[in-house]
Amino acid sequence: MEKNNWIFLTRDEALDAIAIDFQQYGPQPLIFRELAPLILKNRYRIVQQGKDTSLWIQHGREYPLQKIDDKDLGFYFSHILETTKYPLKIIARICAIVFQTRVCPGMAVEKDKYGLWIENHMNGFTCCRCGHCCRSLGYSNDCTKEDYLRWQALGRRDIMERVMIIQEKGKDTQYRIWLDQDTGVIARTCPWLKPKPQEQSFCCLIQDIKPEVCQQYPFTRKHAIMTGCKGEFRPSPQGKPPGRSLDH
Ligand code: SF4
Ligand code: SF4
Repeated sequence: MEKNNWIFLTRDEALDAIAIDFQQYGPQPLIFRELAPLILKNRYRIVQQGKDTSLWIQHGREYPLQKIDDKDLGFYFSHILETTKYPLKIIARICAIVFQTRVCPGMAVEKDKYGLWIENHMNGFTCCRCGHCCRSLGYSNDCTKEDYLRWQALGRRDIMERVMIIQEKGKDTQYRIWLDQDTGVIARTCPWLKPKPQEQSFCCLIQDIKPEVCQQYPFTRKHAIMTGCKGEFRPSPQGKPPGRSLDH
């Protein structure tokens, strides 16, 4: 099935996505230096130190330049983006740099809101079934309540038993996958991953009912690159977003 090549985000959703990107992937020095003129205007200097560069910023007109570590820059940029009213066109340019893709300001298909169309390149993606994503489950691996209810309706106790439900104030708030029943901790390798040695590949034993997070992986080309996905991205034709663009 052809995947959607564009994602629509409102301005607030785009700012949240940028903050999540910075949090999830940590320091991204090249991207941060490209963003500096857009976000900091003239309140910064890039200082060369041997092969490396560092960023020095001025917190206000009266203040001297101060060096800022790349690991703090993501938080700093997110804070400025949240507290400054940038025009949508500038947010689009910032998103294009952060997500390394084409971004067009525009209108949602339902024509009820303005925001940004972000190309995710998923039309051109082919999974090579290397199993890397299923062997490197991390801290943030959750399924949804809907996934859990679907397995419940199908009577798949074997799957439900491997979900760790976290409660807060008596309510189920998080559904963590996949619980290793021997150790009681979340497994690094998915128990539903089956090697196919003859084809030198892997398959998913619950392919048709796998959780949403697996159905959606990788979400974008950048997500794939940053998480070590070995799939291929064919260059896709320079298509247009499905909603009206505000570029013209
Ligand atoms: S459920 Fe399937 S797709 Fe998801 S991590 Fe496990 S093996 Fe991979
Ligand atoms: S890492 Fe990428 S290529 Fe490998 S199995 Fe997962 S989605 Fe497919």
